[in-house]
Amino acid sequence: MLASFILFLSIAALSLKGEDGAPAEINSHFAINQNELDAISTLLLKIKEKSFKKAFGDRSFGNDAVEDSMKPVAISGNQPEVDKAMIPFLYEGDILLNQKQAETILLNIGEDTKRIRRKRNFVSDTLAKWSQLPIKYRLHESLAFFEIAQIVRSVKFWENRTCLSFERVINIPDGDFIEFFKGQGCYSMIGRNGGRQGISIGQNCLKQGVIEHEIGHALGLWHEQSRPDADAYIKVLLDYILPSYKSDFEQQTSGIVTLGIPYDLGSVMHYGPQAFSSDKMTTTVVTKDPLFRSTIGQRETLSFYDVKTINTAYCSGKCSGATKCLNGGYPHPSRCSECVCPSGLGGSVCDTFEAPKNAECGALLTASSEWKEITSPGFPDPGYNQDQQCAWLVQSPSSSDRIEFEFIDDFSFLCTSTCVDYVELKIQADLANTGFRLCCYDMPSETFVSESSLALVIFRSQLSSDVGFKLRFRTTSRPARTTLPPPTTTTTVAPPSGSSITWSGWGEWSECSRTCGGCGVKSRTRQCPVSKCEGRRQEFNTCNLDACPVDKHCARAMSATKLCNGRICTTVSEVLSGCDEPLCCPPFFPVNGICQSDDPLVNDFIDL
Ligand SMILES: [Zn+2]
Repeated sequence: MLASFILFLSIAALSLKGEDGAPAEINSHFAINQNELDAISTLLLKIKEKSFKKAFGDRSFGNDAVEDSMKPVAISGNQPEVDKAMIPFLYEGDILLNQKQAETILLNIGEDTKRIRRKRNFVSDTLAKWSQLPIKYRLHESLAFFEIAQIVRSVKFWENRTCLSFERVINIPDGDFIEFFKGQGCYSMIGRNGGRQGISIGQNCLKQGVIEHEIGHALGLWHEQSRPDADAYIKVLLDYILPSYKSDFEQQTSGIVTLGIPYDLGSVMHYGPQAFSSDKMTTTVVTKDPLFRSTIGQRETLSFYDVKTINTAYCSGKCSGATKCLNGGYPHPSRCSECVCPSGLGGSVCDTFEAPKNAECGALLTASSEWKEITSPGFPDPGYNQDQQCAWLVQSPSSSDRIEFEFIDDFSFLCTSTCVDYVELKIQADLANTGFRLCCYDMPSETFVSESSLALVIFRSQLSSDVGFKLRFRTTSRPARTTLPPPTTTTTVAPPSGSSITWSGWGEWSECSRTCGGCGVKSRTRQCPVSKCEGRRQEFNTCNLDACPVDKHCARAMSATKLCNGRICTTVSEVLSGCDEPLCCPPFFPVNGICQSDDPLVNDFIDL
């Protein structure tokens, strides 16, 4: 075991020095010297090994982990892959930790998170807050004009919604400042670290939500699913995560606070459904409420609670005795007579629907015992267009009545793993939190009953044109929809043999993660009944190699790619590739209806 860990260390060290100048990039854009950087990457290795041991028991963190740790991964389908050269330096895909943070995380792995249940998603170290406003920022020469325009827009977005102010400087200033630069991938540090502090906006990082996400880290936000209450909202399917990335799903036991803000599955800081997936397609993060499965991982823009977290941390007490805002809204910390309203709500005190965007739609509606209808713009033909938004605020006349919603007729939206075009239903009592977002082609068959006498329906299209939705609503006294039981997984593990000093037999294979196309993954595990066993505890294999049937919605979706002129829609075009024949996931190709490849993605996991 020692030998293999040393091997891992030496290979990692090799890559640390040999790859594409990653340390040089960090040295020149952050106030971090080479000694600190060495210490940080060594700590990251220890974090990986400790987390690995926690998951797999006392077994070697060997060659397979070395290979795994070099595979490209992403934290959301809407955020680019982690650059290979940066892997040895980044935590959770896009965070450059400082030495103290890395030490704290290492120390806390394996602690019982249930006993140390402090709520957090904001850095707790008060020194890590930006105490001097305006926050100075600089745009490095490596950035092109278009990149600068996107960055400035994202900075302004934060500025317009918080009490924070930013000042663009040309020369290197004294004191603390942010330096945006075009590095290898998108990454940032957590909170203020002192002196020069880079935010890398590399290739494919230009989506506004991605830039806002990286600025969010620099202001002090951790990833949403690092909160200790995450267990109540999501389940991580460890079977489909590359073993060496298990540490990127650790919940931290100290160092952050949640400031009383509820968990938000629509946070721009949340991992997507395929974070660190071994094949980049298999679901690894499952929402406990299955209706939210396509809500997580959005990178459109900050959620209401993302902004509120920063306002609570930086701007509390700015507007005492100011305007009373309704439905979860609160006074804008730098313009106290205005309200910051939850998405879908508008008006001076957040008591009506949010103004529409690029469409004539939205309303304040009163439900009655008769069905009434809501449709998306242009439904069903010609359908909606890109970049439209509408909100309908539905209220029942009696506060004791709830509202029932049912989708009817036709339903079709651009199909992506995290919804980009969608209808969102806020039927929970807390209208400030993100509701569940529905997209793709299957019309929900169940009806939905709100928790209170007020509910919101939001329509949003970013990229595409499609049929949209039609729904009807009426008052009801039926009970509210409560969270469904989480989906069950079928991994079966054989019992340990007890007497042997070697591995028990392999358990059964888990269910294949996909039904066709060759990109599904299954895994199985075995137990080590005594302290030391050599070899793998878990193995992966490809499964369901039958080509997927032709997708009848594909042609329509393909036309969406034409709408991306000048916009970033790489992820979408990837999703839409190959309409005219039965589908296989790259690098597989169909041969007589069976997916084959000279270069299978996960066959190198097979170790029988
Ligand atoms: Zn991040």
